[in-house]
Amino acid sequence: MRVPPNKSARYTDALSFYQGFMGFTKIKNYCNRKNRPTDSHRCEPIELKQSCLICKSNQTIRRGISYRRTVRHLDAFGCRVYLKLPAIRLSCKAYIAAFVWHYEFVAPNKRYTKAFETTLPKQAIGATITHTARVTETPATTVARIVKTWKKKEASRVQQACQHKASHCQNLVLGLDDFAIRKGHTYNTGLHDLRNGTFLDIIPGRTILEL
Ligand SMILES: [Zn+2]
Repeated sequence: MRVPPNKSARYTDALSFYQGFMGFTKIKNYCNRKNRPTDSHRCEPIELKQSCLICKSNQTIRRGISYRRTVRHLDAFGCRVYLKLPAIRLSCKAYIAAFVWHYEFVAPNKRYTKAFETTLPKQAIGATITHTARVTETPATTVARIVKTWKKKEASRVQQACQHKASHCQNLVLGLDDFAIRKGHTYNTGLHDLRNGTFLDIIPGRTILEL
């Protein structure tokens, strides 16, 4: 991404960058701290109303804005980017249910957009949580939480891919390897696809009966 030479150019670029982005209009850049380049953007949804989350009816009434949430988004133009999202209260005519505007790109009560969260595990590969936290200027607890969730998902995706490959393999060669969880007490057996060089599964125990 090109870094504009001065602040006003950066401002103009950032504005055009955010036009129509995430379904927002009227984005106003209002904060620029000197030492730590930060861009905060006040955002307003393009649509005036959102359909009811419960009954999907579009017969909803806008009840005003309670407060603005600050959500961190992807860095742009050498700046940390924060979106100030209005918590717009709405109510539905059909069921008289009240709800707050739902933003697709950020989970409720989260302080980071989904796009920002997906960049963290990539940064954390081959680095420590502490290092990633420092580089991304994100709390270590946040990095740890996001990386943990990603690992879980990624591990099961990779395992499924390996198992799929093994099940379609013509001359499958299985490798069995037992390893201790607690030496002398608990053992598990690892199952490998030796032809493809992948790990397939863990079976608790190591005796014939258990396998
Ligand atoms: Zn409704």
